[in-house]
Amino acid sequence: MTGFRELWDQLAPIGRDPGSGGYLRYAWEPAELACRDWFRAQADARDMPVEEDGNGNLVAWRGAGDGPAVLTGSHFDSVPHGGAYDGPLGIVSAFLALDRLSDKPRKRIGVAAFAEEEGARFGVPCLGSRLLAGVLDPDRAAALTDRGGSTLAEALGRTPTGRTDLLDRVGCFAELHVEQGRALGEAAVGVGSAIWPHGRWRLDFTGEGNHAGTTLMADRHDPMLTFAYTVLAANKEARLSGAHATMGRVAVEPNATNAVPSLVRGWLDARAAQSETLQALAEAIHKRAVERATRDGTAVSLTEESVTPEVAFDGGLVARLARVLEAPVLPTGAGHDAGVLSGYVPTAMLFVRNPTGVSHSPAEQATDADCEAGIDALARVLDELS
Ligand SMILES: [Zn+2]
Repeated sequence: MTGFRELWDQLAPIGRDPGSGGYLRYAWEPAELACRDWFRAQADARDMPVEEDGNGNLVAWRGAGDGPAVLTGSHFDSVPHGGAYDGPLGIVSAFLALDRLSDKPRKRIGVAAFAEEEGARFGVPCLGSRLLAGVLDPDRAAALTDRGGSTLAEALGRTPTGRTDLLDRVGCFAELHVEQGRALGEAAVGVGSAIWPHGRWRLDFTGEGNHAGTTLMADRHDPMLTFAYTVLAANKEARLSGAHATMGRVAVEPNATNAVPSLVRGWLDARAAQSETLQALAEAIHKRAVERATRDGTAVSLTEESVTPEVAFDGGLVARLARVLEAPVLPTGAGHDAGVLSGYVPTAMLFVRNPTGVSHSPAEQATDADCEAGIDALARVLDELS
């Protein structure tokens, strides 16, 4: 039987940046396409026909039963300089879990590789699963452009199909994923119960662009000061409310060393266990920014770009998996294809322990022993569900 390390080492070099050690696997670019070739080879080796759904998602099918299928799998694409485990662990574990199942008559089992989960190329996270579920308009998706100006239609070679009958043939979905925090503690594997509400806001700080050498300190209307204060306030307000807030993206105009900026645009990513907490957090950060802007002689406006409410996974399925695995149940602050699909099929997740909790970084980790435990757990889950 193939072990985890053997299969993992086949994927490990694909798209790895030698400088950072992180991964550059963007949807339909060469590294991600090489991962898809690997996927087809693994499916071939197991006599599993591969279905492409017209949206760039791949599903390798095992078994020929008529009834609703059991779907598992995850994604290959990464954030810029992302970790090795986020996504691919769920696909590698799926093939290896199938190897551990007996051949007793059972439901069809599908292993999925979803396209553009991170949204790193076209800016829409869970793009493939959103198209599959019919919540993203195919024509709108086709026109999305990457940083080089290529459209999604060009990358995919067609306008996406959108909703197909694939989901109608699926009875439940279980995605295995590396844990992206340190919530698991003593357990190697846990069952996901929910995804926290998540929002993105844009803050525009406007002031007066001016000369860095001749403008008296007292005469300045420097939006960078308001921005800097707001970054600190966001961190403090999130801590006070037990939520998460991050300002990890910023654009400055004119972006010159010798100029007081005229505009600083910062993006706030915030997540909390409840929608009310999330809204209150965004309002509190905005209020602090406005107070500071008054002192700085600047202005600030807040624009909501997206807010995703809480996704609760299927309660019955979560309880069943927790019972079968005797595993802890935990929510997560990270978005997943499972969050999108949970609106259409009963869905749950398995998380494999991440010793440092670091994710979306080359330092993301899971031990081989925990990955093997994850494969065993997924095999038990597939056995139970099929
Ligand atoms: Zn992921």
